[in-house]
Amino acid sequence: MRVTVFHNSIPASITAAQKLIKLLKNGHFELDERHPDVVITIGGDGTLLSAFHRYADQLDTIRFIGVHTGHLGFYTDWRDFEIEDLVIALKEDSGQSVSYPLLDVRAMYADATSAHYLALNESTLKRLNGTMRTEVYIKGDFFESFRGDGLCVSTPTGSTAYSKSNGGAVMHPRLDALQVTEIASINNRVFRTLSSPIITAPDEWVTLEPTGRDDYVMTVDQFVINPPTIKQIRYKIAKERIHFARYRHMHFWDRVEDAFIGAKH
Ligand code: NAD
Repeated sequence: MRVTVFHNSIPASITAAQKLIKLLKNGHFELDERHPDVVITIGGDGTLLSAFHRYADQLDTIRFIGVHTGHLGFYTDWRDFEIEDLVIALKEDSGQSVSYPLLDVRAMYADATSAHYLALNESTLKRLNGTMRTEVYIKGDFFESFRGDGLCVSTPTGSTAYSKSNGGAVMHPRLDALQVTEIASINNRVFRTLSSPIITAPDEWVTLEPTGRDDYVMTVDQFVINPPTIKQIRYKIAKERIHFARYRHMHFWDRVEDAFIGAKH
């Protein structure tokens, strides 16, 4: 098994990474940063997001494992004081994995160029200097004219991140669906949006056609993109999925309770 360790720069993560690398070497694991079978991230959910984008071209062959140096995260099953247990689990690995949907984003620009992105959490389209105006289509049919700060399209695993801050529902990650949430929509006698999150079916896609301005901002997970004038952006469930090596099971709703309510502790 080829393994790599991907960590953020906080001291606790560096210490945990050094310890893990030593244990992996002693356990005769092959360390391979370029073509790993397993990527172990040490940090938080943001570190897992960064590792996902670093290895986005090898998703078919990689399984991720997240180690958290703080509390438990949504993409992290292990804490930094459990590294010995993690190495034992790796030695007993029998290829077990779970996989979750990703968001496919295709942006087509007025100058006939295009761009393609994969998101693990979400992608947003926003306008910071004034109202964003965009037509919204679902499965090719006109749905609404949106006016407001922006729109967020999230994966199920991303539903506990930005989407939740926009009033979106927390979605179980085994669902094959996307969620669209509004960011400060304008609703009055002139402008009307649905004003509630929508969750689309597996075979549906969402298209935005913003009015021809060149000052929109796109985000894809932690990345901020300043695109040229946008003609159309299409969001759908990606054919690729992210795979996690899951050696122990934690119920999704326990994770949600632990992160947002914490009454059990
Ligand atoms: P960051 O460090 O600012 O992370 C923001 C927080 O989101 C962190 O606490 C992180 O642990 C948490 N987080 C990330 N993914 C999560 C998930 N799937 N479920 C629950 N919590 C999650 O920035 P970053 O580490 O670069 O992460 C980028 C993410 O930040 C974006 O994908 C977006 O979801 C989130 N974000 C949220 C808001 C908001 O809630 N208003 C605004 C911008 C970005």
